[in-house]
Amino acid sequence: MSKVVYIDAGHGKYTPGKRSPSGIMEEREWFFNDEVAKAFKKELESYKGVKVVRVDDVTGKRDVPLGERTGAANKAKADLYLSFHHNAYQSKWGNHGGTETFYHAGSATGKKLAQAVQDAAMKAYGLTDRGIKTANLHITRETSMPAVLLEGGFMDSNVDIKKLRDKKVLQEAGRLVAGAVAKFLGLSKGSGQKPVEPPKTDEKPTKKSNATIAKEVIAGKWGDGATRKKRLTDAGYNYNTIQSLVNKQLGSGSTSKPKPTPSKPKEVKVGSKVKIKSGAKNYSRTSTAIPAKWKNKNLTVQQVGKDDVLIKEVYSWVKKSDLVGGTSSASTNTSKPKPKTIKKGSKVTIKNSAKFYATGQSIPSKYKGKSFTVQQVGKNKYLLKELYSWVKKSDVQ
Ligand SMILES: [Zn+2]
Repeated sequence: MSKVVYIDAGHGKYTPGKRSPSGIMEEREWFFNDEVAKAFKKELESYKGVKVVRVDDVTGKRDVPLGERTGAANKAKADLYLSFHHNAYQSKWGNHGGTETFYHAGSATGKKLAQAVQDAAMKAYGLTDRGIKTANLHITRETSMPAVLLEGGFMDSNVDIKKLRDKKVLQEAGRLVAGAVAKFLGLSKGSGQKPVEPPKTDEKPTKKSNATIAKEVIAGKWGDGATRKKRLTDAGYNYNTIQSLVNKQLGSGSTSKPKPTPSKPKEVKVGSKVKIKSGAKNYSRTSTAIPAKWKNKNLTVQQVGKDDVLIKEVYSWVKKSDLVGGTSSASTNTSKPKPKTIKKGSKVTIKNSAKFYATGQSIPSKYKGKSFTVQQVGKNKYLLKELYSWVKKSDVQ
């Protein structure tokens, strides 16, 4: 069930009176309200199953009549209505000030919502707590859903204006109030900026079988690590059950048919022809840079070490990882440039330069430089057993 929240940013840019005594255009009330409303909308929409509608004119040009606002919210059967404002006392500078939230007298839900909004706003503005109040306001009176009107602070207060001039405070107010509203509505956080499409949930989510979900997990549809855990839990699945099914499916190899290993990986041996990759930097046993003239040239292996070889023509040791096969005169060695074949069971190390899993989440740095077991080989990625996560081939060595 999706929730709909209607909001507005008070008045319009050109509404008479609604401004700080400074006379600055940007200190008209709408600008303060708009900043809070924008942050609120952005934050609340990072939760799942909620739509936020700005019922006022987002450009601030038109001061949408109040009846039009409440009429639209009622017609849409919105779940909540919030109106963001900033206050004025006598439109001249003074030392009054504070934050207050209005609700409609007699509305128990409105009162509860008002308190939640007030508490959140208090944290952001850090001004005097004027508490929650009832007043005969059009917005709270004419709406058929719980509705509140927040007065974040006074535009004509010497104290409050300092906070109001700080966009970070206004944005924080929007965010924290959104958090409070999300809690009020029982929403759970979405995946945020997700490169991975979350599994589609329609109005009435039909629960899939655990086995199906396990397959989706293996396919990377549920993301990685903590994100995956959260998503599965939010969707009503038992994380551990799914995870053990994943292990079983992977272990039995039912989903992963290891391709028959072609020929043995090419061994670099004495006499092999190799080329130094153009990306190679230093020799292996000294920190001397490899001159460009030696790169991409057919060279001969004179001696083979554990991780490096001595190149005859250069008379220097070069890392095996910096080599590709060259063309050989010897018939035994017409090699393809494949220094290493990684297959199921291989140990690979996640490069320090690796940033994201194949599914888009960032790889925690604690995993970098560590060795993991390949559980499944994809086209451009490996499933690493210990992480249950897909990592791009280019990010391992
Ligand atoms: Zn106002």
